[in-house]
Amino acid sequence: MKGDLKTETESEIVAAQDRVLQSNYYTTKILNTETDSKCRLCQQFDEKIDHTISACPILAKEQYIKRHDRVSAQLHCNICKETEVQLDKKKHWYEHVPKSVETSQGGKVTILWNQQVQTDRTIPNNKPDIIIHDNEKGTCMLIDVTISGDRNVVKKEAKKFLKHKDLTIEIQCMRNVKTKVIPIIIGATGTISKSFRKYVSNIPGNNEVK
Ligand SMILES: [Zn+2]
Repeated sequence: MKGDLKTETESEIVAAQDRVLQSNYYTTKILNTETDSKCRLCQQFDEKIDHTISACPILAKEQYIKRHDRVSAQLHCNICKETEVQLDKKKHWYEHVPKSVETSQGGKVTILWNQQVQTDRTIPNNKPDIIIHDNEKGTCMLIDVTISGDRNVVKKEAKKFLKHKDLTIEIQCMRNVKTKVIPIIIGATGTISKSFRKYVSNIPGNNEVK
């Protein structure tokens, strides 16, 4: 299991992909029972699979954040290992709690977690999930993770570049380093784009994709 990016258990993924989870919408509209098709949690929207796995406002407050953080913390852990940041060796990746700032031995690489970038002009989107400054190579990598509805994966990927365009230019000008954005967009039931593996391969560490 080491290093592979997982979002849900395999049985949940298979069930959701097959659209056979017993959602209220499915029970009411497909099986024609006299139940309410609304979501049991928010009571606002039809309880369809897509709603439950990525669009429920109640789950967005905590569960989706946890799911997102699990993926980015795993990436962070793999990056730290690859760049020789000292980690507690006894801990597994799933116990890894990222620190705001990590520096590799010798100061070659600095890794920021969930930190706002201070810029001269105001940039609203200035907090990618992970920033890797390679002080030796003079490069900066902005990694931003989203777990989205499966249908939106490609669209969200394109949006990430737009979202961080201003920040990319600003960092390049301020620090005179080559800066690039790495979007990590995973559909809630495991959908990935054709480019996903290419993006992941840019990130330091043994980040397997299954
Ligand atoms: Zn809901």
